[in-house]
Order: sequence, then structure tokens, then C-alpha cells
Amino acid sequence: MNQLKQQILDLQSKSQPLEPNEAQRNAYLNKVNAYANSFLNSIETTKAFCGEKETPHVFKITNKTKPIEDILELYANEVAAKGINAASGGHLGYIPGGGIYTSSIADYLADVTNEYVGMHFSCPGGVAIEYELLNWMKSLFSFPESAIGNLTSGGSIANLIALTAARDKHGIKNAVIEKSVIYMSPQVHHCIQKALRIIGLEDVQIRYLELDANSRIVASDLEEKIKADKKHGLNPFVVIASAGTTDTGAIDPLKDIGNIAKANNLWYHIDGAYGGFFILIDKVKHRFNGIEMADSLVIDPHKGLFLPYGLGAVLVKDKEAVYHSNHYRANYMQDAIDDAMPVNPADVSPELTKHFRSLRMWLPLQLHGIEPFVACLEEKLLLTQYFREELIKIGFKVGPDPDLSVSYFWYPTIDGNENAFNEKLLKELHNDGEIFLSSTLINGKFVIRMAILSFRTKLDTIDKAISMIQRGLSKLNQSV
Ligand SMILES: *Cc1c(COP(=O)(O)O)cnc(C)c1O
Repeated sequence: MNQLKQQILDLQSKSQPLEPNEAQRNAYLNKVNAYANSFLNSIETTKAFCGEKETPHVFKITNKTKPIEDILELYANEVAAKGINAASGGHLGYIPGGGIYTSSIADYLADVTNEYVGMHFSCPGGVAIEYELLNWMKSLFSFPESAIGNLTSGGSIANLIALTAARDKHGIKNAVIEKSVIYMSPQVHHCIQKALRIIGLEDVQIRYLELDANSRIVASDLEEKIKADKKHGLNPFVVIASAGTTDTGAIDPLKDIGNIAKANNLWYHIDGAYGGFFILIDKVKHRFNGIEMADSLVIDPHKGLFLPYGLGAVLVKDKEAVYHSNHYRANYMQDAIDDAMPVNPADVSPELTKHFRSLRMWLPLQLHGIEPFVACLEEKLLLTQYFREELIKIGFKVGPDPDLSVSYFWYPTIDGNENAFNEKLLKELHNDGEIFLSSTLINGKFVIRMAILSFRTKLDTIDKAISMIQRGLSKLNQSV
């Protein structure tokens, strides 16, 4: 055999481990499945939080191979057991989702078949699934069929795509930037400010709007600020509302803001990353009136549909505005372009190659239908109410009636040093870790925050949270 062929065959045999045979595949899967089962079987009794200050140095890349058992053990001890257990129903901090199991099956399929879903040409079926999901979301929010959308890695990139479209629609570049004004609540998610910096709008003028007692934007303040800015020769071009703020779950007055946006020719962006899917609940649907007026909308299925992390969505009414920044035709792509075909997801997003993430949303919806998701969302609203009622019974003060499933509370003290006391209490709760809660500042006041959105959070979880809080309180009262 000639030397070149021999070298190639040597390399072929060295790279053979990259293609395990069926027996090896089964062996891997059986071990992983056994671990996944033990993880899920004990999830109700596993702590929601284990604080760990040190970063473990046990993940080194070397040429030494390890059996799957050792890797799973390392994973269990050093990854899954530390920090926040985001799969736990006891995760009531930030905005949890849980991560439904059937998405993991979809991810497995997506990875094994490795479909390429950036372009219609390479996987018409996969792209059709993405568009079907986007069409479903358009119908939920009464967006026109002509709107375009994209499934992103999460809400941050979805917001970035929407704000870039707003920028390009209004031609905000060069000298115009400094004169241009964006209106938003001081409670917008910080990914908005981040996105503005990333897309070159660091120097726009940001006007933070007044909030009412429920942390919702005061629409009349928007109107006044726009008027004043116009009088000063400035260029108002975007207003951002939240359909469920991260901090307190407040839904801004979407319709009033929409009317003001239309009257003043502003791009109307709504961030519904946290709250959007609550529109499925009849009881609270009316709170979303006006969401259909948005020019762009963000929703996070990895929050409101309880999917594992890695799935956000953006809908934009003005296709051309999105194409302006994302559409590109490279010569090496010429086989993949056909104007008669549906829009390529890559023309609506900064991503070209992307994970086949639509499958992890589509497959569970096929298996379970929509109803269990709706029931679970409604359950979250009632659990929030229940948690608040139980907190009041044991002496806590609670924030205003929440619009959705985020709320806050604090323990009143007579000496007036409430902030310090509640900070200490939260530390106790984190040391305990059975249930994980976070905190925020409301007008400078330190409050403990509950965010109930994991599909695994149940009545029993809230009862455990109340017992944990009582344990924390009695510890603190003993030490004073
Ligand atoms: C979570 C959240 C985001 C950010 O989304 P990621 O998926 O974390 O990138 C944006 N806006 C709101 C209102 C959120 O709750």
C-alpha cells in the first residue's frame, strides 16, 4: 500500500472512538439514563441551593480517557450538586422554568441527526417546525401572519434582534445617535441596556419613566417626556414596555403605551420574556391587552413553557427592518439561496449555524398538547397567591397584589432596621438551601423575592418554603 494511504488508514483507526458502535452507544445511554433517573427520582428531596465559593478545578482537558461512570460521578458531585439546582421545584429565585424531561429527548434526537436549521435548503422540515412554532406564537399574541420571527438561545438575543430592527427602521446611526431617545422603565431587564451597547447605541438618550405603586410605567409620564424631548429637537424613536418585569412581575399598561407610541411614530417593543405565556390563562389574559400593538415582542419558552435553558423567541412585524441587519448572501452560500423558498432563519438572526432548538419545544407540545402547560401556568398564579397568604399569617408584609407570579415580602421589625434584618434572614435561607429565594431592592428597601415559574413547584414546595422561613426566623430571633 502506498504511504499516503497507509497514513490515512492509521488516522482512521485512531479516530475510531468518535464513532461508537451500537453496543457502546447502548452502554453509554444506559449509564446516562440511570443517572438521569436517580437525579429525577430524588429531585423532591434534593436541596434547591448549595452555596459554594470555590470554583472546582477538576475539569481539566488532557489526553487521558475516563470511563463514563467516572465522568457521571464528577458531573453529579461537581456540577449538579453545587450552586442553584435549576431543575428543582424549590428554585424560586430569578426566573426559573424547570426544564421538562421530554425536551431532553428532542435534544437527543437533534444532536444525533445533527440537522442544520439555519437554512431552509439544508433541512426544510426543521425550518418548517421553527416557523410553525413562531406562527403559533403570532396567533397567541394576535400578530399578523406577515410578521417574521426567530427562535434564539434566549431572551437576551431575542431582545437584541428586536432592538437592532428598531435601530435600522429608524436609521439611527452616526450623528443621529446622540439625539435619539429611548423610553423605558427603570425595571427593564438589564439585557436591554446590554443590547443597546452591543448594537452601537450606547450614546442614545435613555429616559427612565415614572412607575406607579405596582411598579408599572405611568403612561402620562411617557407622553410628557416625548413632548419635552421633541421640543428640544431630539428624536424619540423607541419605547420599551415589559409584559411581566423580572423584578416584580409587573405588566406595564400596554395599550396606553401603544397608543402613545403610534401617535408619536415610535417603535414599540415589548419584552414578555418572563410573562408572555401567561396570556394563555383566561383569568389574566386581559392584562395583556395592547400586546398586539407591539412592533416587536420577546417571549422565552425556557421560562413560560418550562423548557430547559436555551430557547427564546422574537417576533417582529417589519420584515425588512430585520433583514437589513441580518440578511447576507455569501458566494459560498449560492446553492442554498432560492427566493421562492421560505425565509432562512439565518436571515433573521446573527446566528448562521444554530442548534436545532425548535425540536425541544415542538416535540413536548406534540406529546402533551397545550393544556398541561396552561394548567401549570395557572397553578403558578395560585401558588403565588397561596405563598403570600401564608407569609402574612406568620407576620410578613407582602408587596402589592402581583400581576403574575413574581412578588416580594419582608419581615417588619420594630427597631426600624428592617433592611439589615431581612438581609440576615435571606442569608439564613441560603445557608439552609432547601428552597431558593432571591432578593431585590424596591425604592431602596431590601425585600425577599419569590419567582414561581418552575413546573415542578407545587403546593408542597410552598409549605416547605414556609417551614424553612420559620426556621430562619427562629434562628435570628435566638441570636438577638
Ligand atoms: C429572563 C429575562 C430576559 C433575559 O432572557 P435570557 O433568556 O435570560 O437571555 C429578558 N427580559 C426579561 C423580562 C426576562 O425575564
